[in-house]
Amino acid sequence: MSYSKPKFQEKYGNYINGAFVDPIDGEYFDNHSPVDNSLIAKFPRSKEADVKNAIAAANAAKEEWGNTSVTERSAILNKIADILEENLEEFAQIETSDNGKAIRETLNADLPLAVDHFRYFASVIRAEEGSASELNKNTLSLIIQEPLGVVAQIIPWNFPLLMMAWKVAPALAAGNCIILKPAEQTPASATIFAEKVGHLLPKGVLNVIHGFGPEAGKPLASSPDVDKVAFTGETTTGQLIMQYASKNLHPVTMELGGKSPNVFFSSIMDHDDEFLDKCIEGAVLFALNQGEVCTCPSRLLIQEDIYEAFIEKVIARTKAIKMGDPFSPDTMMGAQASSDQHEKILSYINIGKEEGAEVLCGGGAAKLDGDLGNGFYIEPTILKGHNKMRVFQEEIFGPVLAVCTFKDEAEALEIANDTLYGLGAGVWTRDAHQLYQIPRAIKAGRVWVNCYHDYPAHAPFGGYKKSGFGRENHLMMLNHYRQAKNMLISYDKNKLGFF
Ligand code: NAD
Repeated sequence: MSYSKPKFQEKYGNYINGAFVDPIDGEYFDNHSPVDNSLIAKFPRSKEADVKNAIAAANAAKEEWGNTSVTERSAILNKIADILEENLEEFAQIETSDNGKAIRETLNADLPLAVDHFRYFASVIRAEEGSASELNKNTLSLIIQEPLGVVAQIIPWNFPLLMMAWKVAPALAAGNCIILKPAEQTPASATIFAEKVGHLLPKGVLNVIHGFGPEAGKPLASSPDVDKVAFTGETTTGQLIMQYASKNLHPVTMELGGKSPNVFFSSIMDHDDEFLDKCIEGAVLFALNQGEVCTCPSRLLIQEDIYEAFIEKVIARTKAIKMGDPFSPDTMMGAQASSDQHEKILSYINIGKEEGAEVLCGGGAAKLDGDLGNGFYIEPTILKGHNKMRVFQEEIFGPVLAVCTFKDEAEALEIANDTLYGLGAGVWTRDAHQLYQIPRAIKAGRVWVNCYHDYPAHAPFGGYKKSGFGRENHLMMLNHYRQAKNMLISYDKNKLGFF
């Protein structure tokens, strides 16, 4: 099977009220593929007036959509999943063109996870039993979940389609209308999604607005006419968005950055076996998705008595990563998502070198042949240093691993928790005590134990500390998109007795 950049239109509109429309002032921006820096298409550089139109369409649709039955919404979500699945290869190629990630990841991870997400929320809303209880023999308490109404959703570029699914599926399932703003670096898959599934929904339920953060994202997050803002992106952007939403007292959910520790204890080296092999791969997962993962296990903590033996294997496995054409099915690492991101990562590698970190492998841009030479590739890089260095503390969002050692459990925990962030963490051990107690003591919303980078739709995901709040995935996500109404019903014939 061979894959390539799909054919795109010359330009696309915003998807508002069930149709693609031009931006009001006629301004577009060029979207380039990081694979080879070629032009993909032009997308609207939307401003406040475009955003207002999308919000008005969503508000006009919210009454009808909010009153649909759970059965109707569930059926539509299942149809969306079917359409994604039927067009899986096309979407995978769009995503690889736009983001630069290897096709084996878009085909085997991003797309199947997005499909499953819609199916999960289609099912879970039907499985809910509701809640009614008799408070006493004359009084019934009924809890009814109502949609919030119109939700603004602002997403990043690292998993454009999957982050969209994480936002759109639960919001629709709960009965809300949506204005989605994809990242300006990766506008393509959300557009084709609207093109292919938009007809399943009443007009105005799903709206997609393109453009830059300050021009399109800010008026969306600041609008008094949305009922909630759901954001995934950088911590500093999240802080701005909270300020905008606070003026309207709108609820927000924040899925932000990370600097996740991946902790390996001595017992992993007790035997030279399959488990040890899994551990080595677990350490090398920093390079998955070119390191552009919010939970990237970017800090590697190794117990000092196994450091030399283990890091040697990790370096060998890292050097064996096959970089190259993202459309080739055996490519393991593709391009970074943009030229800005490429520069940022290289500057962090230099910061590490200036701070005195030792380069154990990689350490620069990767030069590929032909047209790929115009793309944005970086060698998977391992830096040895200590946890106070900037490369250990700041989110690089690239294939750069910062490694240090620890002597015992207490020091492992001290280093693991010495970060502003608390999104993900990994713990690898054969010791039964450590298996439970170390993850319990790490301050992060998701701790993988003897595994990493698994994202089932039915397990809650989200951050502690500056990695955000609120959860995605799992049925608990529904409660971020609805409000509980309690009806207290009295069957008592007697007076209340106060007046
Ligand atoms: P970003 O914050 O730069 O941009 C995210 C989105 O916010 C984009 O759509 C952008 O246009 C918009 N935006 C930017 N400035 C804005 C403003 N002033 N007002 C309104 N909207 C604005 O983030 P990014 O660089 O696209 O994504 C990478 C970041 O996302 C990393 O920090 C990563 O850790 C984080 N992330 C977190 C999760 C999670 O679940 N916690 C998942 C994926 C990515």
